[in-house]
Amino acid sequence: MKDIYLDASATTPPHLDVITKLKDIQFECWGNPSSIHKVGVIAREILERSRLSIANKLKASSDELFFTSGATESNFLALKAVSNNLDKGRIVISSVEHPSINLIANQLRNEGWDIKYWPVDSYGIIDLDLLEEVLSPPTKLVSIIWGQSEIGSIQPINLIGMECKKRNILFHTDATQVLPCGLIDWSNLNVDMLSASAHKLQGPKGIGLLMLRKGIQDLLMKNPSYGFKNGSIRSGTESVPLIAGFSTAIDLLNEYIEVKDNQTLFPVNNVSKMTSRLKKNLINNKHFTFIGPDIERLPNNLSFLCHTESMIPIKGREIVRLLSKHGVYISSGSACSSSIQGPNPILVAINVDKTFQESGLRITIGPWISNDDITSVSNIIFESLQTLELKKQ
Ligand code: PMP
Repeated sequence: MKDIYLDASATTPPHLDVITKLKDIQFECWGNPSSIHKVGVIAREILERSRLSIANKLKASSDELFFTSGATESNFLALKAVSNNLDKGRIVISSVEHPSINLIANQLRNEGWDIKYWPVDSYGIIDLDLLEEVLSPPTKLVSIIWGQSEIGSIQPINLIGMECKKRNILFHTDATQVLPCGLIDWSNLNVDMLSASAHKLQGPKGIGLLMLRKGIQDLLMKNPSYGFKNGSIRSGTESVPLIAGFSTAIDLLNEYIEVKDNQTLFPVNNVSKMTSRLKKNLINNKHFTFIGPDIERLPNNLSFLCHTESMIPIKGREIVRLLSKHGVYISSGSACSSSIQGPNPILVAINVDKTFQESGLRITIGPWISNDDITSVSNIIFESLQTLELKKQ
């Protein structure tokens, strides 16, 4: 039986080109990029070439890119380090953020910031009718997840960014789940700070990106807790192999996401086609209720509530374990929270009935999935749920 991995939003298998790049750099260019001798200079050249290559792909200037250990650290830096240097006021985040943003927001609340959660509708899209209210003084910083990691909802970040700009409010977006679906044109985004992570797009783990407009960099440089040197936010030796591997992974992306004021248009590709095929196969399954938006959605994401044919809730974790025995790997929520028992906060935010708040299931697809995989998975899911139904009767 072939394993079928459908949990791309948790992490992705590193691409062979990425593994080859990591191996080559570890072997040949292992120098410290801060050393001034030849071994160090070679490592520095690789680092700067990788930075430039990523910058060119994302239509940014290379001095706007800062490498971090992953999106968790990028999110932390964007909110915490910046807020340390602003007069205290209000920070607005959506009610469907990644746990890493909620964690920092809670810390900032303890430090005296007022935290406001921007509510979402039942599809997980923020309520734009509240825009004037949430962006009124004393809002200083807004952070909105671009593509929601569990239910796939896409937020109108360019419109929010534009409204923030008009009011002199800093705007951060967590684009961790968006970048794997297409390249971003940074020159065309109304965003001051953007977080991303390599391991979500077949790059290596342990390397992320924080994109910062020039004016914001001064705020971070003022922060004494971060060594801001040589285009790096973190003091210490840069991981040249991971940065080069990240650049290789970004090189594998070729199509751009088109961003209009309140719309994000993803390229149609094999992944989006496979996702649509699987959706067609599962949408009428009596054990699943499709959740999240139809259109404003990550093109690789399907999410459901699970239940018996007579609508008795089934825990998502139960289905995840069941399918795992059949070599199909999916998730009951964000990897950063799915190991925690209890109601899923994203399902709470979209007002899912209390009895179903532990019944979420997420399927996220990557370029390694073939047409045959979709057929196999559809059959395995159908048969496994039929067996489970019989057991529950
Ligand atoms: N933000 C989002 C939206 C994510 O999905 C994740 C990963 N689950 C993160 C942040 C954290 O990324 P990393 O693992 O690179 O720290």
